Amino acid sequence: MTVSFPYSKNVNFPERYISPEKLFSYLQENYSDQIKEIGKSSLGKPIYMLTLGNGKTRVAGWSQMHGNESTATLAMLDLLQIFEKHPELKEKLFSLIQLDFIFMLNPDGSETWSRRNAYDIDLNRDFIRNSSTEMRILKSVVLNGNYNYLLNLHDQRTIFTTDGSHPATLSFLASSENVERDVTENRKKSMAVISAIYMQMKHILPNRIAKYTDEFYPTSSGDNFMKSGIPSILFEGGFYENDLDRNKTREFYTHALYYALKAMSVLKGDTLSYETYFDIPQNRESHFDLIYRNVKLNTEFECIMDIAVQYREILDENSKLTYQPYVIEVGDLNHKKGWKEIDCTDKKFVSVKKFPKLDSLVDFVIE
Ligand SMILES: [Zn+2]
Repeated sequence: MTVSFPYSKNVNFPERYISPEKLFSYLQENYSDQIKEIGKSSLGKPIYMLTLGNGKTRVAGWSQMHGNESTATLAMLDLLQIFEKHPELKEKLFSLIQLDFIFMLNPDGSETWSRRNAYDIDLNRDFIRNSSTEMRILKSVVLNGNYNYLLNLHDQRTIFTTDGSHPATLSFLASSENVERDVTENRKKSMAVISAIYMQMKHILPNRIAKYTDEFYPTSSGDNFMKSGIPSILFEGGFYENDLDRNKTREFYTHALYYALKAMSVLKGDTLSYETYFDIPQNRESHFDLIYRNVKLNTEFECIMDIAVQYREILDENSKLTYQPYVIEVGDLNHKKGWKEIDCTDKKFVSVKKFPKLDSLVDFVIE
């Protein structure tokens, strides 16, 4: 019988936003003999790698390559604290594997809650060009480290579902290494790990685990590391119902990270049961955060439309993450769904504007 994973949140990091300075001092205070500065960001912030274990199977992972995707960093912090409380969970695992975990590869973007680095470079499209100092640091660690597996850890938007109604709270990908998306040996090794995570988690997170598109991205890191011969696994933390702050997602992400490491320690490059990967549903783009249905504008002619809203995540002056509603689409949205829907039939659209302008903050009310 499998014992359920004793999840608890790392109390030092209660929020989705993580200040780089706070992370750095936490790592220095608690893990000084296991961390190493592997380089500096564009603006001179340190980039730290934490090493756990001394097993034969070598794993490298990195979080916050995109600064506004903190769930993996939080999941790793949770996992560290869970290991402190339950040393039995880590002892066997870390006799079999060595994990090199790069926290916050993009600390400049993380500081300002932006996807890109300080020079507006998307690190995940910089593998070939090497414009960013952060990508050069990642490549030098990964390509010289004799790794058996890589964990490329991200968050995805709230728009994805597994089946058109349940959110894709976690999506995984065994990245393609060519345009043909061939199922190569390295992909099979990644698929076997993802299959193991899926089998462990499909009952605790039913209908909310998906596969990310395996379209080949010629300049991205997962695809190119896979191409260079290292099985790479992409994680995408997504939405969970009524959880914009991603607390539930964080919890499941932590589970997934643990099960990934466990699977790697057991599989050691084996492709056992990789076929299960093909049973995992594909990400579907089906949802908006909010849809106002059947809104009648105050026009002389009749004009009834649906209005879709997405929340933009904006850091306020006190470094608190806020969710600002933006009009993202208008018109006939019958083919789409909203995590929240408001029927506006027989109600009034009240605004200084004649119509809800695209890409603008919601400034109307429905009465
Ligand atoms: Zn990302």
